[in-house]
Amino acid sequence: MAGKPPVIGVLALQGDVREHEQVLDALDVAHRQVRLAGDLDGLDGLIIPGGESSVIDKLSRIFDSRDAVVSAIRGGMPVLGTCAGLILLADTLVGAIDGQQTFGGLPVTVERNAFGGQVESFETVIDMPTIGGEPVAAAFIRAPIIRDAGGADVLATLPNGDVVGVRFGNCVGISFHPEVIGETRVHRWWLDAVVTPAQR
Ligand code: GLN
Repeated sequence: MAGKPPVIGVLALQGDVREHEQVLDALDVAHRQVRLAGDLDGLDGLIIPGGESSVIDKLSRIFDSRDAVVSAIRGGMPVLGTCAGLILLADTLVGAIDGQQTFGGLPVTVERNAFGGQVESFETVIDMPTIGGEPVAAAFIRAPIIRDAGGADVLATLPNGDVVGVRFGNCVGISFHPEVIGETRVHRWWLDAVVTPAQR
């Protein structure tokens, strides 16, 4: 396989951009920040970080990058959204603030702040059969739950059955943050299973 090394964009409007960059550095993968529409040119994949989905949504409109992000996703660009990033990929949202929009891409229903407030944040490990090996380290911070996975493939569930990770084609969304606790295997899997095949 003579594919050229991928270049990954990290949507850098708000949220834990740095932590995703650190994971990509640890995996030796080239990356750049995306704020404006033109920043998407030539990228092989896009990461939408955790943070505050309503703020990222608003800033994407202020920076005029929203339409370009939506078209890139619709056009098949591989995307990985964590927490707020999952919320922004959901086609249907429960608990949105007034006027809050998503980019869409995942035909699922996601409930924001589904565990409660900041004090309900926690760290755990989750079996992700698609990734295999040891359970994945996961931080849940004011995290969403996927209430209806629709036609998407389920990648991760909590012991009580709540769905916290899905894939639909080029889009992967997870409720939690592997990136804030140095877990690199979710990104590695996304690069190998979603980004590399799309490059061919
Ligand atoms: N609760 C946040 C939101 O609605 C997401 C939290 C997170 O990304 N850690 O955007």
